Amino acid sequence: MNSEDVMLRVMDRERMVRISVARTTALVEEARVRQDASPTATAALGRTLTAAVMMGLDLKDEESITLRINGGGPLGNILAVAESDGTVRGYIANPEVNLPEKYRGKLDVGEAVGTDGFLEVVRDMRLRTPFTGRVPLQSGEIAEDLAYYFSLSEQIPSLVSLGVLIEPGGTVKGAGGLFVQAMPGAGDELLKTLEERVLQAGPISNLVQGDLIKLIAGIMGDIPFDILDKREVAFRCRCNLDKVVSIVTALEEEDIQKALESQGCLEICCNFCGEVYTFSEKETRLMRGSVS
Ligand SMILES: [Zn+2]
Repeated sequence: MNSEDVMLRVMDRERMVRISVARTTALVEEARVRQDASPTATAALGRTLTAAVMMGLDLKDEESITLRINGGGPLGNILAVAESDGTVRGYIANPEVNLPEKYRGKLDVGEAVGTDGFLEVVRDMRLRTPFTGRVPLQSGEIAEDLAYYFSLSEQIPSLVSLGVLIEPGGTVKGAGGLFVQAMPGAGDELLKTLEERVLQAGPISNLVQGDLIKLIAGIMGDIPFDILDKREVAFRCRCNLDKVVSIVTALEEEDIQKALESQGCLEICCNFCGEVYTFSEKETRLMRGSVS
């Protein structure tokens, strides 16, 4: 079975190039269901979640990475936050937006994301000042924009492929990503060869439905390589009752009053996972310390 969400990283024996590949089908499908996202929105969010979870594997304990994309298009802001343990969460501002296909089988993510904006990466390293890098969007297709970010902001020449394949019924059939990243001293010839093989291999959302080691071996060809790591990746939100209680405590009295009057209770919905936390009037008053 090749159904579990997993990520693999390998390096050639001469340490010139690193290839990362991830299958994220289940986690993108989970995000789609939680946000009730259209095919176009699922593709955009799924590519962003996949990129973030792949970048997150460079993190140490307790660190996190946030990938934010806003291109001024109808989908609005897209956000994904990945942790060092291989989990990721994210949301898209307008999940209902759906554009006609660019051509048969090709969702128009670029048009829906837009190009009048930026891609931003924030590495939160807890005790140290967060690192923020930002580049203007090139195509809004996300993979190309991320490759531009790697080369400009991190000086790592990279080939980035991200894809989400949606079935006619709207569910996610395959999702994944591939990074080919050059280490200092890597020759142009090597990168060119690898790039050609990646292009020949076909869409990544199809490829990740098969065996990932075979996929990498096909790209590496006669170049010997070692597996650096393999790990599971998953969608996981970090919201919990404690966090929600602190939000309720900080809300304006006027807003609380309005909610209680119109609904008879207070509902707080998590943007990331869609979880709804409901509190009765009495619970709300207790949390806010206005009942003795
Ligand atoms: Zn949540």
